[in-house]
Amino acid sequence: MAHKQPPSRATQVTVEPPQFDRPEVEIRASPRRKKTGTAHWSGSRIVVQIPARVRGRERRDFVDELVERLMVQRPLNAGNDAALEERARELAELYNDAIMSATVRWVKNQQARWASCSPASREIRVSSRLRQCPDWVIDAVLVHELAHLQEADHSARFYEIANRHPRQDDSELYLDGYALGLGLRIEESDVDVEQ
Ligand SMILES: [Zn+2]
Repeated sequence: MAHKQPPSRATQVTVEPPQFDRPEVEIRASPRRKKTGTAHWSGSRIVVQIPARVRGRERRDFVDELVERLMVQRPLNAGNDAALEERARELAELYNDAIMSATVRWVKNQQARWASCSPASREIRVSSRLRQCPDWVIDAVLVHELAHLQEADHSARFYEIANRHPRQDDSELYLDGYALGLGLRIEESDVDVEQ
């Protein structure tokens, strides 16, 4: 640029692409804002408004905190492990003959599977990638994993149980598209067999 710009009074907008465990974030830095920041949902995007004078590392931390605070207010997909476990318990009552796992956790280290179940230790792990999916998709995945507590293999009996959730097929289609969009190759097996 040939000319030096005078300090702008206009709000500066930057958009950060979605990351592993958070959606797209739009940052609006306003010179009129003095101290406080706010965050709200706009569709699947989080819009953060901050004072323009906050820069660099301080801005990064400010934005992260606002985003995280907003995300934990959302049920299920942004909730903590306790919220996920509570949901799994409700689904177990509805669809899995009230058979519930010992634990249900969000995990970040599961890149090639949406979720997994260890029938021996009765643990269910759900990939943080699903945090960006609608609640009904997460529900269907939870019901699938819960069904593995009764039937480890993808047998006819397994599907009899898992398909009690009415949107199991929709969920599979949704996740196929999601995997394609992310360029992921999802493993067939989601059951950990321990000897
Ligand atoms: Zn399975």
